[in-house]
Amino acid sequence: MGGLTAEIFARVVEFHGHMCPGLALGIRAAEVARAEVGLNSPENPVVAIVETDLCPADAIQYLTGCTFGKGNFIHLDHGKNAFTFVRLRDGRGVRVVARPDAFGPPDPDFTALLEKVRSGQASAEERARFEEAQRRRAEAILQAPLDRLFQVRPAEARVPPRNRAVRWEVCDGCGEPVLTSHLERRDGGVYCRGCSGSAE
Ligand SMILES: [Zn+2]
Ligand SMILES: [Zn+2]
Repeated sequence: MGGLTAEIFARVVEFHGHMCPGLALGIRAAEVARAEVGLNSPENPVVAIVETDLCPADAIQYLTGCTFGKGNFIHLDHGKNAFTFVRLRDGRGVRVVARPDAFGPPDPDFTALLEKVRSGQASAEERARFEEAQRRRAEAILQAPLDRLFQVRPAEARVPPRNRAVRWEVCDGCGEPVLTSHLERRDGGVYCRGCSGSAE
């Protein structure tokens, strides 16, 4: 189970909504983070830079303590199963990248099944077969040695500073309060990003 207690494992699955190979991969990436830089805490601030917005991102947030709302979970929309963890105390960082075969060898039967399920064309029997295959693939990822799943390299600690104001002003366009850091000032008015287009 990727070094997790049964209870934490159940909770991360509940948080994500289902067990799947992507969640399993994120669970294992979090395991690397814990070993290499430690989990995020007030004493050990860690930033996660995650290059996918798919299933693994939920496991990373739940298990490392780096979360979107705290600003120490940064999403780069690169479409990669690549995860960088940086320990701010000393700048130690690692980039954890899934190997091309992390999800198992190519399996045309499974790919065909996946397409059918995605397009809503699968029968109940095919959906059940898909669920079972997903469960097996996730299980294999949870059991695999970490170096079979990932390439882990030292990473430079390039954490973009979080430039967030803590003051609010009311947008002259929509009347909604907005952080001053996110306002545009023009023609003596202030506009949120939603309104700034129409304010031109
Ligand atoms: Zn999932
Ligand atoms: Zn507005």
